[in-house]
Amino acid sequence: STTRIAFIGLGNMGGPMAINLARASFAVQAFDLDAAACARVAEHGARIAESALAAVEGAEVVISMLPASRHVESLYLGGAGEPGLFDALPAGTLVIDCSTIAPASAQKLAEAGKARSLAVLDAPVSGGTAGAAAGTLTFMVGGDESALARAEPILDRMGQNIFHAGGAGAGQSAKLCNNMLLGILMIGTSEALNLGRSLGLDPAVLAGIMKKSSGANWVLEKYNPVPGVMDNVPAARGYSGGFGTDLMLKDLGLALEAAIAKRAPVPLGGLAESLYAAHSAAGNGGLDFSSVITALEGRPRP
Ligand code: NAD
Repeated sequence: STTRIAFIGLGNMGGPMAINLARASFAVQAFDLDAAACARVAEHGARIAESALAAVEGAEVVISMLPASRHVESLYLGGAGEPGLFDALPAGTLVIDCSTIAPASAQKLAEAGKARSLAVLDAPVSGGTAGAAAGTLTFMVGGDESALARAEPILDRMGQNIFHAGGAGAGQSAKLCNNMLLGILMIGTSEALNLGRSLGLDPAVLAGIMKKSSGANWVLEKYNPVPGVMDNVPAARGYSGGFGTDLMLKDLGLALEAAIAKRAPVPLGGLAESLYAAHSAAGNGGLDFSSVITALEGRPRP
C-alpha cells in the first residue's frame, strides 16, 4: 500500500521536496504556517492539512523542513504548555528532520523519540533549491542504520546521494562543516569575481576560466553570484528565493558554536560569519546569501 507521509515546512526547500514525493505517488499530507507555500504544493497533488497535528494523522513517516532548531524542537517536543507531535505519534513512526539545526538539538530529539519508540533521523541536505526541485539533493544522515534503511526509498525520490554520517546528530555535524566551507567559498569567489571586474575582465569569461582551473568550486559551477552569468540562480532574479543570508548566518553560528566547544580553530569561518552578519544588519537578511557579493563591491545593493 502507499506510504503515507506527513510533510511539515513547505518553504524554498520543503516545497519542491514535498512536490517530488507527491509526484512519486506517495500519499503526502502537508502543512506550513504560510498559506501561499501550501497552495504551491497543493497544485502538485499533496493534500494540505489544517495543522501539523492534522497532517500526521495516519502517517507512517513524518518529514520536517523548518528554519532552525527552535522551530523543530517546538514542533516535536512542544513547549509553553503546548504538546508536541511526539506525544501524538504512534510507536514505530519514522521521523526524518531535514532542517539544518544544532547537532545537540538533533540528539535531544533522537533521545526523546527513542523514549517513545519512534525512529528519528537527522537528514539535512545540500544542493540548494535547484537540487530540491530536480530531486538531486545530497542527504547527510545521522541515526540508526535500520531507520535509514526504512527512509532510503523516500529519500531516493528527493535526492541523488545518501550518506550515513554516523549516530544521532552526525548528519548535522557534517552539514555544518559543509556549510561553513560554502559560506567561505561564496565570499572568496565573490572577491575573485569582483577583482576580475575591476581589472576589466568579463565575469562570465573569468568564471569559465576558473571553472577549469585550480579555483574551481560549487559556487562557480552552480551558483554564480554575478547577475547575468547564469540563468536559474538567485543572482538572475534580484537575489530572491534560494538560501537566505539569515539562514547562512544561522549555519555559521552553529559551526562557530561547535568549534568553540571543541576548541577547533576556524578563523575564516569566523570572518565569514562577521561579513554575513554585517550584510544582514544592512537589511539583506531575506535575500539569497550570494547577494553578499554586493556588500563586497562597496556599492549599494541592486
Ligand atoms: P524557508 O524559510 O524558505 O522555509 C521554511 C518554511 O517553514 C516556511 O515556509 C515557514 O512558513 C515554515 N515554518 C516555520 N515554522 C513552521 C511551523 N511551526 N509549522 C509549519 N511550518 C513552519 O527556508 P528553506 O530555505 O526552505 O530552508 C529550510 C531549512 O533547510 C533550513 O534549516 C535551511 O538552513 C536548510 N537548507 C536550505 C537550503 C537552501 O538552499 N534554501 C539548502 C540546504 C538546507
